[in-house]
Amino acid sequence: MKDIPELFGSMVFNDKVMEARLPAEVYKALKSTIAEGRPLQLDIANVVAAAMRDWAIEMGATHYTHWFQPLNGITAEKHDSFISPDGECGVIMEFSGKALVKGESDASSFPSGGLRTTFEARGYTAWDPTSYTFIKDDTLCIPTAYCSYGGAALDKKTPLLRSMEAVEKQAMRVMKLFGSDCRRVQTSVGAEQEYFLVDRDVYEKRPDLIFCGRTLVGAKPNKGQEMDDHYYGAINPRVSRFMKELDEELWRLGVLAKTEHKEVAPAQHELAPIYATTNIATDHNQLIMEFLKRIADRHGMVCLLHEKPFAGVNGSGKHNNWSIGTDLGENLLSPGDTPSQNARFMLFLTAMIRAVDKHQDMLRISTVSAGNDHRLGGSEAPPTVISIFLGEQLTGVIDAIIADKSYHEKKRKSLEIGASVLPKFKQDSTDRNRTSPFAFTGNKFEFRMPGSAVSIAGINTVLNTIFAESLCEFADRLENAADFGTELNALIREQLTEHRRIIFDGNNYSAEWGEEAVRRGLLDLRSTVDALKYYDSDENVAMFERFGVMNRAEMHARREIHFENYAKIINIEALTLLDMLKREIIPSAIRFEDRLAETGLRKNEFLGRDCAATERKLLEKVSGIVEVLSDCTDELEAKLAQTRELSGTEAVAGRFHDSVLPAMEKVRRAADELETIVDKRFWPYPTYSEILYSIK
Ligand code: ADP
Ligand code: MG
Repeated sequence: MKDIPELFGSMVFNDKVMEARLPAEVYKALKSTIAEGRPLQLDIANVVAAAMRDWAIEMGATHYTHWFQPLNGITAEKHDSFISPDGECGVIMEFSGKALVKGESDASSFPSGGLRTTFEARGYTAWDPTSYTFIKDDTLCIPTAYCSYGGAALDKKTPLLRSMEAVEKQAMRVMKLFGSDCRRVQTSVGAEQEYFLVDRDVYEKRPDLIFCGRTLVGAKPNKGQEMDDHYYGAINPRVSRFMKELDEELWRLGVLAKTEHKEVAPAQHELAPIYATTNIATDHNQLIMEFLKRIADRHGMVCLLHEKPFAGVNGSGKHNNWSIGTDLGENLLSPGDTPSQNARFMLFLTAMIRAVDKHQDMLRISTVSAGNDHRLGGSEAPPTVISIFLGEQLTGVIDAIIADKSYHEKKRKSLEIGASVLPKFKQDSTDRNRTSPFAFTGNKFEFRMPGSAVSIAGINTVLNTIFAESLCEFADRLENAADFGTELNALIREQLTEHRRIIFDGNNYSAEWGEEAVRRGLLDLRSTVDALKYYDSDENVAMFERFGVMNRAEMHARREIHFENYAKIINIEALTLLDMLKREIIPSAIRFEDRLAETGLRKNEFLGRDCAATERKLLEKVSGIVEVLSDCTDELEAKLAQTRELSGTEAVAGRFHDSVLPAMEKVRRAADELETIVDKRFWPYPTYSEILYSIK
């Protein structure tokens, strides 16, 4: 392996490169523009662009692209070469400040949820200078936000950036009240990415994996994950070579890929980066997903990012670790050493407890997808009810505060909250509750509900905004308090009392919790369709508008796109399944039936007596299941056809959920039973065992 510190970030036009390559005053101007979040001036942009171009060309780049994140959840890029005619039959390599700062793009083929009518098809992309440009595929990639000409956000990045601004503004108000000298407060994210690797040859024999990213049929393997022998197991040499190359490629791009290990299910793995500022972490997670697929391909494998590629086997999530800290290096979710720091910690903690309880619906919505629906609530991932795990110690502290114990006897001094009782909360993996959707893990919150395939932009937009709202409410009160200490104590106690119901330290997979959650009045939004109904409620719109993160039209558009995507995904799955059934599974079973019948007849004829009991028994069984399967297939086809009669994204999505999905499950039960009795040589697809253990 090459010198890693030298390799790291070598394809990134980062601060070090900027400082070395830009004239001092331009560098300073760019830095302050970034720090203050002002738009870049054209004269500065011109100099920066020229330096970027020279650097990129030296690194072998020939093209540039505005790299953006449209609402389909993946990244988009349109490459332009640097060439420009020189007027003398030749070309020069050109890249202007204008091209760096702003790009135009025909937006008509990206989902807009009605935000952009087709006659104003243009959208524009604008460089987000807080995220460095980098080189990928000999192309200079410029991370950008993507808006319509009316200024509506057509992407996932714009609301995220706005939410970062909102949370910073409110957090600064609170920090000021505590007399802090910090100049910036930013949220940070570390997204642990789970994924499956399967052999490409096996993958290519499964239309369901190719078209849907998950298996639509497949009987349980004899050996699944029950032996728990995969988690943290020794890594297969082929996978190890893949991981090494992946790390190298990601390091070049400045992605802090840190931990790689095997996960619970066979063929499942995880990659965790070191955390970064929220928008960088989001960009990097998109790159991680892209490179997982790309590098797997180089090693004859396919990376499945789907949340539930295999029924009965653990699915994949994306644990979103979230925290907030200052430019002075303090983590505001870390209990401090002094009473004042502890009081501040309690305030920030209370702000999140309030935020999560108040906005359970938005948090759940941030994790919706057709794929994640198969994963949540299956005793392998958090249930669909949101709650917070704090651990015994911290919950004890909170209950003491609520009961007003341990403070009562003493004379109440200002900033006393928690001072005498707050221990250091060590991050101890042994007592960590892995069943909780939202766990406090020492100095950060780990949101475990998100699915493996989604962009984390939406999740963090919600986390930032709901947190900003709590901080804003708190700051409003504290700024106007006659006595800060008294008001702080009262506020924390009151808020914890009001939102205590969201804290649950027990087993989130248990049936008792389901009942208890209902008693506590917590929301249980089981499916994407159930959750999305809450998206643009008046309360949610008011909050996002108040903090300038999204307006009603932008939210409505996102809701529409979610519903549309959901229906499209299940439509593709149903069509793929029908195709597999009609053209392969049923015909294969019939061929097997034919073979059985023929063998039976020939045996009887040959031996001159009835000796085909085995063939008859098996044929009866196969024939019975094929009949059921055939009826279920017709039913699925009819149900699918009925969805075409409806209009309105919500109604269509609802029908897919209520009627098509159950029909698909019914078909599957019959098909999977058939798989277990049909001669292997007649079965058209690799089995679960063959797929899950395909990497030798
Ligand atoms: P786990 O046992 O869940 O894998 P780790 O301690 O390894 O937990 O951390 C998981 C993730 O949390 C890593 O991606 C790490 O970078 C991230 N993380 C750690 N500290 C912070 C923080 N302050 N803000 C955001 N993410 C963080
Ligand atoms: Mg984790």
